[in-house]
Amino acid sequence: MKEVLKGFKVRWLICSAWPYINNVPHLGTLVGSLLSADVFARFLRLMGEEALLVSGSDEHGTPIEVEALRLGVDPKKFTDESHRYIVELLKKWELSYDNYTRTENPIHKEFVQHFMNKMLENGYIFSRNIVMPYCENEKMFLPDRFVEGVCPFCGYEYARGDQCDKCGTLLDPIDLIDPRCVFCGFRPTFMSTKHWFFDLPKLEDKVREWLKNSRTIDENVKTYCFSLLDKGLKARSITRDNKWGIPAPFPGAEGKTIYVWFEALLGYLSATLEYFIKEFGREEGLKKFYDYWKNADARTVYFIGKDNIPFHAIILPAMLLASGEGYVLPYKISATEYLMFEGEKFSKSKGIGVWIDEALEIADVDYWRFALMRLRPEGKDVNFTWREFYRIVNTELNDDIGNFIHRVLTFIYSRFGAKVPGIKKLASEDEELFSIVKHEFEEYKNRMYDTRIKQATENILNVARECNAYLNRREPWKLIKLSKDEAGSVMTLLVNIVKGLGLMLAPFTPKASTKLWRMLRLGDEIPRGALRRAFEIEIQEGHIIEKPMPLFRKLPEDFLSTINAMIRDVRKRINERRPPYLRF
Ligand SMILES: [Zn+2]
Ligand SMILES: [Zn+2]
Repeated sequence: MKEVLKGFKVRWLICSAWPYINNVPHLGTLVGSLLSADVFARFLRLMGEEALLVSGSDEHGTPIEVEALRLGVDPKKFTDESHRYIVELLKKWELSYDNYTRTENPIHKEFVQHFMNKMLENGYIFSRNIVMPYCENEKMFLPDRFVEGVCPFCGYEYARGDQCDKCGTLLDPIDLIDPRCVFCGFRPTFMSTKHWFFDLPKLEDKVREWLKNSRTIDENVKTYCFSLLDKGLKARSITRDNKWGIPAPFPGAEGKTIYVWFEALLGYLSATLEYFIKEFGREEGLKKFYDYWKNADARTVYFIGKDNIPFHAIILPAMLLASGEGYVLPYKISATEYLMFEGEKFSKSKGIGVWIDEALEIADVDYWRFALMRLRPEGKDVNFTWREFYRIVNTELNDDIGNFIHRVLTFIYSRFGAKVPGIKKLASEDEELFSIVKHEFEEYKNRMYDTRIKQATENILNVARECNAYLNRREPWKLIKLSKDEAGSVMTLLVNIVKGLGLMLAPFTPKASTKLWRMLRLGDEIPRGALRRAFEIEIQEGHIIEKPMPLFRKLPEDFLSTINAMIRDVRKRINERRPPYLRF
């Protein structure tokens, strides 16, 4: 194995699971992967860290192939249009991906084939004839996910051919009791065909060793993986009989493609490589790629839903080891639980949930971003309700945060003629407030670095609530009549806290935070690294602020009574704008 480069500076690669392109993502897809990853990346950039954020559309495999076949279109046309639509949407969500690419990009295809050949050369891939489920109805071999049946381990009735979602066991279709084709419900026949396999058992010990020694992988992820490892890993087939995919590069594998799961996982690497090749050209780009993937001080952080744990914490590390290239193994895997919608599972067929293009017609993107991170399912499933959304926007974002900021700015604007009075002297209660705020900030940073993002929002709210209570106690509107200097000192402290609070919010509400930054006349954009100095007194005597405008607005009083009708209306309108393949 090649030596991993040492002594480089820390670099963060933030990866979010690649959404499959056959649907517009719904709030549940967004919350754990795409949005969490963006908030984390924004935080790191604001802390002045070297950070790169990558993801993309996962577009190969059977569901697309089958759907394209049904509609009589070329799968490429299908995914071209869908990818374009999704990319536009992600921009509207202020998702700041350095590279949001797709598995159809040529660098990805080349990278996957090269990587697979390395695994083969190193003896981790073998071929053998297997018996595969074949549906006489569709005249096709059924990939794992398209066979359902009873789990032989826990008895769950809807276990899929690749995995049981109930007990988490990785399965093969032939393991299922009473298998059925998910398209037509017929019992598939099992026919012989040659396939290539990833020899996972050979890497079991190494993966276990890595998990055991990692000090950064979360305990919930470890526990889950050890239980799978204890049952023993099985070789997994990495080729399929699909046409729509990346051709398997192995001798004798003509006509076979690489199974989407194995190729999409390599997207984290190829997206990094593609980004740097586009920026710096092939030779220099490759070096930059190694800074992130072969640097012992690189930190790769993955944002996924809990159902993706085995693929990211076992299969991906095993593949990285099998390549023998010395790629870094995951630093952290931030796996969220499920987001429910009004007590039910999101379901396109039943129309249960909100899809991310619809959401933006209902409320401002900042409100959604903040509310979804407040509801981020950390440690347990969370139920999204409109009532809770309404409460978060109106009470937390408006009353607690927005009001405090507005009270401070309007006071300075109207009572001090927009000019920051400066700190003459601070009383002990002022110092005390400041130390509480700084303590909250320290905890916020620790939680954010640890991807406990929902918990970090508590610190933001604590700062706002402490400051509101302090304003009510300190009463600068009375104090100013007794001592203009003392009231001026209080307000100068507070306007600096407002700046810090805006920075703490910036990963969550980038638009509002930028607006605040401009209102404070600190510049046009918030600079990289600004969060490190969040609570340094940088706004000083004589600094002029703009006329304050409220950062947030409340949702109307009749929001809860009208939302269901609004959703129906929005869905109808939006549906017509979607590319044909993404319509309901
Ligand atoms: Zn099971
Ligand atoms: Zn069938």
